[in-house]
Amino acid sequence: MTKQCPSCGSTQVSSANYGRKIGGTVGTVGGAAAGAAGALSGAEAGTSIGFIFGPTGAVLGGLAGALFGALIGGSTGCVAGVKLGETFDDHIFTHHQCSSCGHEFNLSTEAPSSPSSSNTHST
Ligand SMILES: [Zn+2]
Repeated sequence: MTKQCPSCGSTQVSSANYGRKIGGTVGTVGGAAAGAAGALSGAEAGTSIGFIFGPTGAVLGGLAGALFGALIGGSTGCVAGVKLGETFDDHIFTHHQCSSCGHEFNLSTEAPSSPSSSNTHST
Protein backbone atom coordinates (compact mmCIF):
# COMPACT_ATOMS: atom_id res chain seq x y z
CA MET A 1 0.00 0.00 0.00
CA THR A 2 1.69 3.15 -1.19
CA LYS A 3 0.74 6.38 0.48
CA GLN A 4 0.75 9.46 -1.64
CA CYS A 5 0.84 13.08 -0.62
CA PRO A 6 -2.50 14.69 -1.56
CA SER A 7 -0.74 18.02 -1.91
CA CYS A 8 2.16 17.33 -4.25
CA GLY A 9 1.67 13.68 -5.17
CA SER A 10 4.98 12.55 -3.74
CA THR A 11 5.21 9.01 -2.41
CA GLN A 12 7.94 10.03 0.03
CA VAL A 13 5.53 9.91 2.94
CA SER A 14 6.38 8.98 6.48
CA SER A 15 3.73 7.95 8.94
CA ALA A 16 3.63 8.27 12.69
CA ASN A 17 1.66 5.42 14.14
CA TYR A 18 0.42 7.17 17.26
CA GLY A 19 -2.43 4.75 17.78
CA ARG A 20 -0.21 1.70 17.58
CA LYS A 21 2.13 3.12 20.21
CA ILE A 22 -0.66 4.32 22.48
CA GLY A 23 -2.60 1.10 21.94
CA GLY A 24 0.43 -1.01 22.73
CA THR A 25 1.07 0.91 25.93
CA VAL A 26 -2.56 0.93 27.01
CA GLY A 27 -2.87 -2.72 26.08
CA THR A 28 0.21 -3.67 28.06
CA VAL A 29 -1.04 -1.77 31.11
CA GLY A 30 -4.51 -3.25 30.75
CA GLY A 31 -2.99 -6.63 30.05
CA ALA A 32 -0.86 -6.35 33.18
CA ALA A 33 -4.02 -5.70 35.18
CA ALA A 34 -5.67 -8.65 33.47
CA GLY A 35 -2.48 -10.57 34.08
CA ALA A 36 -2.68 -9.78 37.78
CA ALA A 37 -6.21 -11.14 37.82
CA GLY A 38 -5.00 -14.09 35.76
CA ALA A 39 -2.13 -14.57 38.19
CA LEU A 40 -4.58 -14.73 41.08
CA SER A 41 -6.82 -17.30 39.43
CA GLY A 42 -3.76 -19.10 38.12
CA ALA A 43 -2.28 -19.18 41.61
CA GLU A 44 -5.56 -20.49 42.97
CA ALA A 45 -5.75 -23.20 40.36
CA GLY A 46 -2.08 -24.00 40.78
CA THR A 47 -2.44 -24.18 44.53
CA SER A 48 -5.42 -26.52 44.42
CA ILE A 49 -3.76 -28.71 41.83
CA GLY A 50 -0.48 -28.60 43.76
CA PHE A 51 -2.22 -29.72 46.93
CA ILE A 52 -2.27 -33.21 45.47
CA PHE A 53 1.50 -33.21 45.91
CA GLY A 54 1.48 -31.74 49.41
CA PRO A 55 2.30 -28.26 50.78
CA THR A 56 5.41 -27.87 48.59
CA GLY A 57 3.38 -28.78 45.55
CA ALA A 58 0.78 -26.19 46.51
CA VAL A 59 3.40 -23.43 46.76
CA LEU A 60 5.09 -24.44 43.51
CA GLY A 61 1.74 -24.84 41.79
CA GLY A 62 0.64 -21.44 43.03
CA LEU A 63 3.81 -19.79 41.76
CA ALA A 64 3.62 -21.51 38.40
CA GLY A 65 -0.05 -20.62 38.09
CA ALA A 66 0.62 -16.99 38.99
CA LEU A 67 3.48 -16.70 36.50
CA PHE A 68 1.48 -18.37 33.78
CA GLY A 69 -1.57 -16.18 34.42
CA ALA A 70 0.51 -12.99 34.44
CA LEU A 71 2.34 -13.91 31.25
CA ILE A 72 -0.83 -14.86 29.39
CA GLY A 73 -2.69 -11.78 30.58
CA GLY A 74 0.15 -9.37 29.83
CA SER A 75 0.95 -10.63 26.35
CA THR A 76 -2.72 -10.98 25.41
CA GLY A 77 -3.38 -7.41 26.54
CA CYS A 78 -0.41 -6.07 24.61
CA VAL A 79 -1.42 -7.82 21.40
CA ALA A 80 -5.03 -6.70 21.80
CA GLY A 81 -3.88 -3.14 22.50
CA VAL A 82 -1.66 -3.02 19.42
CA LYS A 83 -4.48 -4.44 17.29
CA LEU A 84 -6.83 -1.82 18.68
CA GLY A 85 -4.22 0.86 18.08
CA GLU A 86 -3.84 -0.26 14.47
CA THR A 87 -7.57 0.19 14.02
CA PHE A 88 -7.33 3.67 15.50
CA ASP A 89 -4.37 4.39 13.26
CA ASP A 90 -6.28 3.42 10.16
CA HIS A 91 -9.32 5.52 10.99
CA ILE A 92 -8.46 8.28 13.42
CA PHE A 93 -4.83 8.78 14.28
CA THR A 94 -3.13 7.94 11.03
CA HIS A 95 -0.83 10.83 10.63
CA HIS A 96 1.31 11.12 7.56
CA GLN A 97 3.81 13.73 6.63
CA CYS A 98 5.14 14.33 3.18
CA SER A 99 8.92 14.39 3.06
CA SER A 100 8.90 16.50 -0.07
CA CYS A 101 6.61 19.39 0.83
CA GLY A 102 6.00 18.83 4.54
CA HIS A 103 2.23 18.50 4.05
CA GLU A 104 0.52 16.64 6.90
CA PHE A 105 -2.57 14.59 6.26
CA ASN A 106 -4.75 11.73 7.42
CA LEU A 107 -5.96 8.89 5.23
CA SER A 108 -9.54 9.39 6.38
CA THR A 109 -9.60 13.07 5.40
CA GLU A 110 -7.73 12.24 2.22
CA ALA A 111 -10.70 10.36 0.81
CA PRO A 112 -12.11 12.16 -2.23
CA SER A 113 -15.57 12.76 -0.82
CA SER A 114 -15.94 16.44 -1.65
CA PRO A 115 -18.67 16.89 -4.23
CA SER A 116 -17.58 20.37 -5.29
CA SER A 117 -19.99 20.55 -8.18
CA SER A 118 -20.21 24.32 -7.95
CA ASN A 119 -18.76 24.57 -11.37
CA THR A 120 -19.99 27.72 -13.09
CA HIS A 121 -21.21 26.47 -16.40
CA SER A 122 -20.94 29.15 -18.99
CA THR A 123 -23.24 29.16 -21.97
ZN1 LIG B 1 3.82 16.63 -0.54
